[in-house]
Amino acid sequence: MPHRAVIYARISVTKEESVSVDRQVESARQYAASRGWEVVEVFTDDGVSATHNSPQARSGWTALLSYDRPHEYVIVWKIDRVARRIRDFWDAVTDLQDRGRALVSIGDNLDMSSTVGQIVAGVLAGFAQLEAEAISDRVTAARRHLLQNGRLPGGTVPYGWRALPNPDGAGYVLAQDPERVEYVRGAADRVRGGATLYSVVQWLDEVGAPLPRASQSRRKSTGWAYTTVERLLRNPVLAGMVPYNPGNSSKERGSDVLRDENGLPVVDPAVAVMTPTEWRAMVAALDNNDSPRAKPHALRSKTSALLSGLVWCGVCDARMHRGTTQGRESYSCPRCHQTISRIQDYVVEQFLWAKGEHVRWTPVREVYESGAAVLPEIEARLDELDAAIRDAPDRAARRRLQQKQDALLDLRDQKRAEAPRTELRYEDAGFFAEAWAEAEGVEAQRAVLDDALERITVRRGRTGRGLDTSRLTFSWRHPDQVGPLPEPSQEELARWAEG
Ligand SMILES: [Zn+2]
Repeated sequence: MPHRAVIYARISVTKEESVSVDRQVESARQYAASRGWEVVEVFTDDGVSATHNSPQARSGWTALLSYDRPHEYVIVWKIDRVARRIRDFWDAVTDLQDRGRALVSIGDNLDMSSTVGQIVAGVLAGFAQLEAEAISDRVTAARRHLLQNGRLPGGTVPYGWRALPNPDGAGYVLAQDPERVEYVRGAADRVRGGATLYSVVQWLDEVGAPLPRASQSRRKSTGWAYTTVERLLRNPVLAGMVPYNPGNSSKERGSDVLRDENGLPVVDPAVAVMTPTEWRAMVAALDNNDSPRAKPHALRSKTSALLSGLVWCGVCDARMHRGTTQGRESYSCPRCHQTISRIQDYVVEQFLWAKGEHVRWTPVREVYESGAAVLPEIEARLDELDAAIRDAPDRAARRRLQQKQDALLDLRDQKRAEAPRTELRYEDAGFFAEAWAEAEGVEAQRAVLDDALERITVRRGRTGRGLDTSRLTFSWRHPDQVGPLPEPSQEELARWAEG
């Protein structure tokens, strides 16, 4: 009885090799015929990369493994058809051995039913891995090179920027679009100043900021979309960084940026409208913004947003959502559903009574620059490396990441040595009552209120007519005794800033 064999062929999407599936199968058939083997079945994986997919993740290979007609050999064109990584390769070989089958590779002249064949296969698998890494490195390096030289590798140009011909050579570079970048800057400044995303959307509409081209064609002049503005602000290009996700094989769009050899972001100051640290703070502010469930309320509501986000449920320790009850502004807890309405006038009254004659101390964080500017970026990168080390697939990868981390820790020490002081200072900004009287519009009023009021806590109580003021507790930012005189000491101010 002749030996029996199945054939396995694979071609990847990237066409990193030119041997078509048909040619692989034909060679395997000739090989089988020359040995008098009977080919009982053919399995193929088309358009599947072996670098990004283990054999078990491919439908052709798994069908081959579960194929139950008896056979002794699995013929492939080359062993890199099976796997590009040593570990994947040995897993695949073990799977076959468990089923009493041997791998035969034509191109490598290899028959794994012999011991020598197994040894040689191991060495060859190592080379296949090297080659795959080299290909992947070359692709990555080419993209890095373009980006690090400030050239656009293709893709969409973000709102507020434009592509200009590269003055130093081929291709295009990213540059600020003078007609639009001011709107991006304005929107970012507002979010950093504590404005809600909703009010930023309103502002863009009010000043008539031109819409992104995509929205122009899709939806006719209905104004700025909430999601568009949020996406725009979260783009690292605002800090002159380049979105970049090497080796990201998932469909999901990552949020990493191009980095130098220390893992710190590559920043093009000519492109940036803010520093990376400012950008991260702004993204954090966006993260802490109202929950998506709160957004429709805010969008529908015609009442002012003076207290939005300041009102908390004392039962659930949750932010209460703003809405309207019988045409009046009201707040309701998303968890226990207690509501309270008509509090704004009372809050303003209390604020002016408690704080009006006190000095509005506005916190100012003063940084005396040097190496310190880069420290937050180093810390952020160290955090990312911690996570990456935990998730590392194997010891070698873990060691590579740890080496990077070591280098970065050295750099941090060095930057710390030259680090300047960061001082939190409070600036005397006049009396609260004056600031309030001068504040025009809800945003300006809110900025004044934010310097005085941490939050308003609401406990359960009567909801009928009128406001039951005993339900409200005010948490002021500074103790009441903070007044214009005497000037508080640095230690006192630091303590208040923490508390
Ligand atoms: Zn509640």
